[in-house]
Amino acid sequence: MKNVKIKNNELLLFLIFLTPFFTHYLYSYLFNSLFLEDIGELSFTSLMSLLIYAPLIYFFCRKNIKLYIFILCFHFLISTLELFYILLYESSVNISTFCIIFETFDNIFVKVFYSYSKYSNEAKKFESVTQKKDSDMEEVSFNKKTDGNEIYILIIGESASRTHMSLYGYFRKTTPELDSISKELFIFNNVISSGTTTIPTVNKIVTFNNPENNEDSFKHKNIIQFFKKAGFKTYWISNHTPYGKYDSYIITMTAKVSDQVFWVNMNKDFFTGKSFDDKVFYPLNKIFSDKYEKKFIIIHLLGMHASYSKRYPGDYAVFNENRKEHTDIQNEKINTYDNAVLYNDYIVSEIIKMVKKQDSSSFVLYLSDHGEDVFDEADFAGHSDGHLTRYMLEIPFVLWVSEKYKNFNKDKVEQFKDLLSRSYMTDDVMHTIFDLCNIDCKSYNPEKSIISKNFISKKRIINTIDYDRNLTIKNKLAKAVIK
Ligand SMILES: [Zn+2]
Repeated sequence: MKNVKIKNNELLLFLIFLTPFFTHYLYSYLFNSLFLEDIGELSFTSLMSLLIYAPLIYFFCRKNIKLYIFILCFHFLISTLELFYILLYESSVNISTFCIIFETFDNIFVKVFYSYSKYSNEAKKFESVTQKKDSDMEEVSFNKKTDGNEIYILIIGESASRTHMSLYGYFRKTTPELDSISKELFIFNNVISSGTTTIPTVNKIVTFNNPENNEDSFKHKNIIQFFKKAGFKTYWISNHTPYGKYDSYIITMTAKVSDQVFWVNMNKDFFTGKSFDDKVFYPLNKIFSDKYEKKFIIIHLLGMHASYSKRYPGDYAVFNENRKEHTDIQNEKINTYDNAVLYNDYIVSEIIKMVKKQDSSSFVLYLSDHGEDVFDEADFAGHSDGHLTRYMLEIPFVLWVSEKYKNFNKDKVEQFKDLLSRSYMTDDVMHTIFDLCNIDCKSYNPEKSIISKNFISKKRIINTIDYDRNLTIKNKLAKAVIK
């Protein structure tokens, strides 16, 4: 190879070569996973590339500028090719083989472009829904049943298994606040989540999408859009982070459609950062002081998301005793999970107290995105489609309604206590919420509302597993639920 002397430019070239690595690492650090895909690994790869890959190439090519430029161009060529391929075909073609080929290069440009293309694809799909004019949306009618203000709240909890709540019979007093107002609550005891992970389950909670039609959530208008069309002012308070490996663009964008959004979690990720759920109180009070007459509020809690010990302040570390049937590690997980349930009890009951003071026609519906198995049946603590147990699906579904709501919806409320054992799955919960709010539209189906006279229970299939036939094993109660 022909040597080219470029002494004066060597440092500059070296820096140019490093720029993408620096830039990307800086971006991922500053914006906390701006790109959706595998950002943790991406940051790591960037760093490793920075430390090993780039200097190595530079070392071997430092005397050959042509080779150096060739390698640079090769990187860009591969990245560009993949980018175009994904943009053109991603929606219809399985790209895994293609990705494997390119991943063998462990090419940072490929990863960045791949992540970016995923992001822009989701963005495009979402915009195709949200940017449709209101006239494109089905008619939504609202039957006002009160003479004053209306405040309707949906609390989406996180990794809450009802089998660990004393409200549902758990042997530890993990929900003392809700227990103390249990007479004011409608405690539905046979509701499960539609899956075991946050993104698909929340997507199904906030759209009419369900496993029966199994469509892309992007095709559906979301709950916020319906409420806006019905004349409500809409709010979203989230203690999740807006972007990240474990957050979905569609959830974020559903939140963003709201009239007001409050992101209260400034951490980089769930596992290392603390962001207690009491942060939602401040924006909630702000919303209450807003003079608008009809309000619909979604509160997305961090709840009992791993790591459990990071979900509650020290005052709530009350369950410490170890049980013989578990190892030390298992006891530590169970105790910290139960402490998180105790703190979550304070959060949910406090929200109910705050709404109570508003003297409005209101309800608070608390449910969880999915449950959690904390060494109940699984030999680990967590949730996973691959190791499905009923504890990952059996969630709390608790409804509180104000006196004014009761007065104006007498017929409805009177029968609630007879419906508490109905078999239900949260992918249909939008129908229940519409029913509660007296909202009607073409997509609303009373047969899917747990409080409707016309309700028809359906088969509850999680992936391919029939929950009622295969997972509800009566004689295999949680080891923890021993009374
Ligand atoms: Zn979750």
